[in-house]
Amino acid sequence: MLDNVRIVLVNTSHTGNIGSVARAMKTMGFSDLVLVDPVSEPDSHASALAAGATDILANARIVDRLDQAIDDCGLVLATSARNRTLDWPLRGPRQAAGQVLSEAPKYPVAIVFGRENSGLTNEELQQSHFHLHIPTNPDYGSLNLAMAVQTVCYEVRMQFLEQDETPKVQQEYPRVEALEQFYQHLESTLTDTGFIIRQHPGQVMTKLRRLFNRARPEENELNILRGILASVDKQTKNSDS
Ligand code: SAH
Repeated sequence: MLDNVRIVLVNTSHTGNIGSVARAMKTMGFSDLVLVDPVSEPDSHASALAAGATDILANARIVDRLDQAIDDCGLVLATSARNRTLDWPLRGPRQAAGQVLSEAPKYPVAIVFGRENSGLTNEELQQSHFHLHIPTNPDYGSLNLAMAVQTVCYEVRMQFLEQDETPKVQQEYPRVEALEQFYQHLESTLTDTGFIIRQHPGQVMTKLRRLFNRARPEENELNILRGILASVDKQTKNSDS
């Protein structure tokens, strides 16, 4: 089950940190590491800090953009050293771990970690269903990247070891790729109807993303929403002609 939990590192600066993350992952039983646009690819420094976990480094996938790392995932958690970023639904590590374990049997689940100096951008944070904050000291709460990975993986492992037959979620949630297609469709329909003004799009799409990510439409619900958009598109086209 832990094989279906993916650790995603975005734009990491120090290869040593990538090595330390590999070690943190392997000690907790995780193996799927994806590096999004690392500043440098894993080198001897990374291997030195990975110690016995160089296999995780060797198997790490490297991609250019975050969406390529999470497209096939049904649940995405974005970690943040800051509390209450963007007002997105927020989880603590324990709560998040329970959710990860209940959904990992169904599809890949991603936990995304940010840059050492600046964390994740707002745009990257918005590509997640939930934000995960480790409740550190409010006066100095920024953990070293690998330690943040260690802490989150530890929580998931503890609950994994404790669970016997925890009931699994029954719903099928759509993958990120399908949600993204829906958001693009929604934006284009709302632009066609004039609700979104192309030159002044404002925050509407961000707010709608937050709404739908919070609601977590199931696959059949997303199909209904796409059907609604298609029916609106048809009307708009008819009234154009
Ligand atoms: N100065 C950055 C901190 C980046 S720390 C900022 O303010 O966002 C590097 C990464 O470690 C973060 O992007 C996050 O993925 C993780 N991290 C560090 N502290 C964390 C915490 N308290 N809770 C959750 N993730 C944390």
